[in-house]
Amino acid sequence: MAENKQVLIGENLFDMSEGKPSLIVTHCKSCGTYFFPKSFTCHNPECVGKDVETTNLSRQGKVENYSVMNYPPPTPFVTQEPYEPIVCAAVEFPEGITIIGMMEGVTAEQVKIGMDVEVTVGTIYTKKTGDEVIAWKFKAV
Ligand SMILES: [Zn+2]
Repeated sequence: MAENKQVLIGENLFDMSEGKPSLIVTHCKSCGTYFFPKSFTCHNPECVGKDVETTNLSRQGKVENYSVMNYPPPTPFVTQEPYEPIVCAAVEFPEGITIIGMMEGVTAEQVKIGMDVEVTVGTIYTKKTGDEVIAWKFKAV
């Protein structure tokens, strides 16, 4: 059997150059809006300049809201047995953008609105082949 691999869920989602992951975003210098994943243009319909740059988002944000998946997601997700509820959070960053991701290291009872979290990188699911799919996640600080 082949060795299990770690597969990124997408390219150019996070930057590890400073040792810890930062989400890569597009910042519109014309209207100030941030976009994730990064984009080649500004998607604000009221923006007239659309002069964009790629930058790294702040590493920490606050849980704006969250949801708990009490039932296993459908394929292609493969969850571990016994199934542990997955906590997904909408995290607001100081730049004003809200990004949704899975929480790591907290149970449904521990997650709180307003909780300070930081960006991390980890396995969001394992494929039937055994390969681990890697994406951004959030963990309490
Ligand atoms: Zn803009």
